[in-house]
Amino acid sequence: MKIKGYSFKCESPFFVYCKKHYCPCCGQPLIRKKVSKIVHSDSDEAKNYDFDIADNIVKGYAKFNHIEFFCSVCKKQYTVKEIKENDAFIQHRK
Ligand SMILES: [Zn+2]
Repeated sequence: MKIKGYSFKCESPFFVYCKKHYCPCCGQPLIRKKVSKIVHSDSDEAKNYDFDIADNIVKGYAKFNHIEFFCSVCKKQYTVKEIKENDAFIQHRK
């Protein structure tokens, strides 16, 4: 498999790096985890990814990296979006 492009995307970097996040299930602090995924530009999944990498439209396999959160107690992984929604929910309850 030849990888033709690499992309690293961090959704809401301020939210991800500057704030503390806790597990929605058990309340433990979450660990940031880098998640990598290789996607082919002709696959069904390709529509969820941006193959326009560094001013170059990648044809073929590209590796996409992003950040997710991991709870070492529950062994569960959460997307940034899930944690964002959970934080908003907690804020709302206060
Ligand atoms: Zn947990």
